[in-house]
Amino acid sequence: ALPVLAVVGRPNVGKSTLVNRILGRREAVVEDKPGVTRDRVSYPAEWSGRRFTLVDTGGWEVDVAGIDARVAEQAEVAVALADAVVFVVDATVGTTDTDEQVVRLLRRSGKPVVLCANKVDGPAGEADAAVLWSLGLGEPFPVSALHGRGTGDLLDAILDVL
Ligand code: GDP
Ligand code: MG
Repeated sequence: ALPVLAVVGRPNVGKSTLVNRILGRREAVVEDKPGVTRDRVSYPAEWSGRRFTLVDTGGWEVDVAGIDARVAEQAEVAVALADAVVFVVDATVGTTDTDEQVVRLLRRSGKPVVLCANKVDGPAGEADAAVLWSLGLGEPFPVSALHGRGTGDLLDAILDVL
């Protein structure tokens, strides 16, 4: 079976946009409105001649009490089934308590994680990305999923661990 790469993170950080960028076509549904829950969706993908299964997730949603249990469970399943994980953070927003909880979950999973600092549309955003070293997940890769900036370096890092 092909290796499985799961894309996880909070709603609206750009997971589906990144998935479309990797696929080279608009297949994953991109939403301007955060908080639209969807199931995990798998796509056949390829980079540098390596084929893998790319899994888009609905993301972790937050209600007043914290992470919604069902959605957290779904994301946890996606991580459990994956060989590697891309954790997407909106670098223009920074991290939230939810991100910290997700990081703990990712650490417990023992899976290799590549940190995508998304929405870095230009050089001015690089500093926002560097702040994400504090998550303890290693190097944050500054990416603009929307424009394609930095996605090559991100994918090369992913293939190293996949
Ligand atoms: P998801 O909920 O994590 O799957 O996020 P989406 O992919 O649906 O994107 C949410 C919103 O963020 C959409 O309006 C996207 O166009 C926007 N977005 C995604 N990636 C980028 C990016 O790299 N730069 C900017 N400026 N906007 C982005
Ligand atoms: Mg999405």
